Amino acid sequence: MDFKFNQEQEMLAETTYKWAVNWLEPKMQEVDEEDKFPEGFFKETAKLDLNGITIDEEYEGAGLGYTEACLVAENLGRVSSALSMTWGAHLILCADNIQSNASKEIKDKYLPKLVSGDMIGCLGITEPDAGSDAMAMRTTAVKDGDEYVVNGSKTFITNAPVGQLLLFYAKTDPEKGSRGISAFVVETDTPGYSCNKIDKFGMRGSPTGELAFNDMRVPASQMVGEENKGVHVLTSGLCTERIVLSACALGTMRAAMDLSVKYARERYQFGRPIGEFQIIQQKLADMYCHYERAKWLTYYAAWYVDGLTDKRGGKGTDLDKIAAAAILNASESCTQVCLDGVQIFGGYGYSLEYPIQRHLRDAKLWEIGAGTSEIRRLIIARELLRT
Ligand SMILES: Cc1cc2nc3c(=O)[nH]c(=O)nc-3n(C[C@H](O)[C@H](O)[C@H](O)COP(=O)(O)OP(=O)(O)OC[C@H]3O[C@@H](n4cnc5c(N)ncnc54)[C@H](O)[C@@H]3O)c2cc1C
Repeated sequence: MDFKFNQEQEMLAETTYKWAVNWLEPKMQEVDEEDKFPEGFFKETAKLDLNGITIDEEYEGAGLGYTEACLVAENLGRVSSALSMTWGAHLILCADNIQSNASKEIKDKYLPKLVSGDMIGCLGITEPDAGSDAMAMRTTAVKDGDEYVVNGSKTFITNAPVGQLLLFYAKTDPEKGSRGISAFVVETDTPGYSCNKIDKFGMRGSPTGELAFNDMRVPASQMVGEENKGVHVLTSGLCTERIVLSACALGTMRAAMDLSVKYARERYQFGRPIGEFQIIQQKLADMYCHYERAKWLTYYAAWYVDGLTDKRGGKGTDLDKIAAAAILNASESCTQVCLDGVQIFGGYGYSLEYPIQRHLRDAKLWEIGAGTSEIRRLIIARELLRT
């Protein structure tokens, strides 16, 4: 067993964090207050080669693994969970899924642009009446010559208000239920496509959109994978998404912990730093244990998937259970760590002046996005009970 990151991985983590502190941190108050996506974010991350961490060199990517993707996610998340999520949606939810499932033509057309930050990517699964039960989606794509005519809607789509490329799912044979779903990529300036921004209490700066498709025509060549086999595309990306998003939550935990340790040293009450009170020390110790547990489960999951030839996971695989456990543990730990952080800050923790409350507002999302805690528990139990 070797619990160490190698030198390149350490350097990647350090470079990402340094950049986030220098470029992103000074913008964060405005980003949060105004829910403003920082202009030029993906052009900047492109300079560090972060947009294509898991994308093959053939498409201008770095050709690295999910362990490296997790290191980037964690170190962006130390400064902003929101921008870490936005980066994850662009790379893992959109570009990585395209790489694993799309035709060479689609990969050649879009992957280099996603890597360079010329295009921002997003993934559309969720619909107003189909969240946890994603297969109940109602969006339809009806073949008309060499095009599909798409009607329907999607909601809670990360990056949609600023994105240029959407990977989405629609029913091409509604009678067949989950066996009648297909995946497509569409450019967001296509006639019939429209997006409204959703206001949120957390993850501000990571733009979230609701989409409407009204007679949107998508060329058949933009289909990802085979017709009616979209469910395979959809499930093939869920495990790696969950693992990388767990690492975003690690970053938030680390941020909350760092702020809390500093505050416990600096804040005096009863003539002593509050860090000298054992009940505050207990909170700090618990925060540390939450973080360490989540860290090792997340990086174990990343190491595990990096070692697999078939990384698709899904029903009936150990990867499904491990990925669900990683994000379940990281997300619930993240909320608890941020709650403890706010408590350590007392009244100042409740004031919008101190960033600790931002981390708490962001943290709650990790229990909801990429499948809720309840659904993750169902997955883990299903795999445990599998004979
Ligand atoms: C900020 C943000 C960003 C997001 N980004 C994206 C994105 O980029 N792309 C995308 O496609 N989606 C995205 N989502 C959507 C997200 O994946 C869904 O919100 C999530 O899957 C839950 O669906 P829902 O909100 O419809 O809740 P519902 O499915 O309606 O669930 C409501 C409650 O019921 C529980 N529940 C549901 N079914 C069961 C069950 N069988 N057993 C027990 N409990 C159950 C849930 O756990 C939850 O507590 C995002 C959401 C948010 C908030």
